[in-house]
Amino acid sequence: MTVVTKAWLGLGGNIGNVPSAMANALQRLDHDADISITSVSPVYKTPPWGVEDQAWFHNCCAEIETILSPEQLLEACQEAEREGKRERIVRWGPRTIDVDILVFEGVEQNEQRLTLPHPRMLERAFVIVPLADIASSLVLQNKECREWANSMDSSDLELISTDQDWWKLV
Ligand code: ADP
Ligand code: MG
Repeated sequence: MTVVTKAWLGLGGNIGNVPSAMANALQRLDHDADISITSVSPVYKTPPWGVEDQAWFHNCCAEIETILSPEQLLEACQEAEREGKRERIVRWGPRTIDVDILVFEGVEQNEQRLTLPHPRMLERAFVIVPLADIASSLVLQNKECREWANSMDSSDLELISTDQDWWKLV
C-alpha cells in the first residue's frame, strides 16, 4: 500500500531573482512523480536589517503530498536547491535558494540531518505568515498556525503576489 503524506515546505532567499528561483524549485518538485504540490502561498518580501546593503528577502511556503520518506523528500528539496543555484537569470549574478521541510505530517525527529518540525520556524514571521495562508489550522505545538501568525509582528512583511498560480507563470 502506498502511503501519501502531507508536508509543508518553506522557501526563501536573498540573492538574485528569488521569486523566479522559488518558482523553478516548485515546478521541479511538482514534476517529481512522487511529489504533488497542492497549494502555494503568496510571496512575501522582507527588508534587510542590520547590514544595510543586503538584498531583500523573498519567502513563500508550499503544501505538498508525497509518497517519499522525510529523508527522500529532503534529498528532492536539496536537488531543487542545487538546480536553483545553477540558474543564470542575470549574467554572473549569484543565485541562492533555500528549501526547508517545515512539517512532515506525523513525524517528529531531532536529527542533525533532518529535524522535524523545523526547529526555528515558530520564531520567524516570514515562515509562519505564508504558512498560515495555506495551512491556517495546522497545529504547531498545540496552537493553530493562524494563532502563531496573529501573535507575531509581521509589519515588515510585504505581500508581493496574490495570484495563487504565480509559481506556474514565472
Ligand atoms: P539553513 O539552516 O539556512 O536552511 P541549509 O539549507 O544549508 O541552511 O541547511 C543546513 C542543513 O540543515 C541541511 O544540510 C539539512 O541536512 C539540515 N536540516 C535539518 N533539518 C532540516 C529541515 N527540517 N529542512 C531542511 N534541512 C534541514
Ligand atoms: Mg535549508
